[in-house]
Amino acid sequence: MTYRGRFAPSPTGPLHFGSLVAALGSWLCARHAGGQWLVRVEDIDPPREVAGAADQILATLPAFGLLADAPPLFQSQRIAAYDAAFEQLRDNDHLFPCWCSRRVLVASGGIHRDGRCLTAVDPQRPPAWRLRVPDVEVSFPDALHGPQRESLRQRVGDFVIRRAEGFYSYQLACVVDDAFQGISEVVRGTDLLDSTTRQIWLQRCLGLSTPRYRHLPLVQDQHGRKLSKSTRAWPLDPTDPIPALRRALAFLQRPFPARAHDVETLLVAALEGFSPTLLSHCSGHSVD
Ligand code: GLU
Repeated sequence: MTYRGRFAPSPTGPLHFGSLVAALGSWLCARHAGGQWLVRVEDIDPPREVAGAADQILATLPAFGLLADAPPLFQSQRIAAYDAAFEQLRDNDHLFPCWCSRRVLVASGGIHRDGRCLTAVDPQRPPAWRLRVPDVEVSFPDALHGPQRESLRQRVGDFVIRRAEGFYSYQLACVVDDAFQGISEVVRGTDLLDSTTRQIWLQRCLGLSTPRYRHLPLVQDQHGRKLSKSTRAWPLDPTDPIPALRRALAFLQRPFPARAHDVETLLVAALEGFSPTLLSHCSGHSVD
């Protein structure tokens, strides 16, 4: 089977050092395996998106030498595929419409576990649609974190597939597109480790195969928080890629021996010394 990896940014702001680590980690794994590397723009949550961010992200990646093997896939253009998956789930009785507010779910810690809506049908308001999650344990081996297992119903419960505003959830879109793009290994940040059992369960409901998973360490600020737009992480400077690229390589894989002064030579040298098994699974501080 051909190795196919991907980087799937949400266009909620410019790329920062934490997202470079995720992009570079997935790129290194794909190139090391002699496989393909794809980019997917996860632009299905308009309220969270920032105008111009998708273009900015797509212009920044090549400046860091991260060239995809196909044009980017935009999730905003994939609604028909999500509609089809939604209908398949509904036809197979995996979904139910739900009018429950957060307030209704307070007693159960915000988790919906009943497999049916607890609130009266309100014809004036569109419902959210939830996946009915049975009492099963979902397990998978993570390439960096080892065996994972959890009771999906206990921790997550009946999770939302389509919000009341009509937007499809990240979980559904991600599963449909990982299958559509033929992704063989998902390499992404450890912040998404806890989405994986939901995605595996959805793959089973939809009859899709499950890729392998490798969750990379997170870059943290001095306070141990994940570097993100909300912690005011600095955007990357595409006109001066080498320092950030060096730091990202050193973060992912110590020791990092290569001395090079242009992006291409640096990446070639990094790839020569790279092994996915040497990736650290420990999140750590940025040298910022
Ligand atoms: N779009 C998600 C993010 O930017 C990543 C999704 C994924 O890699 O599965 O956090």
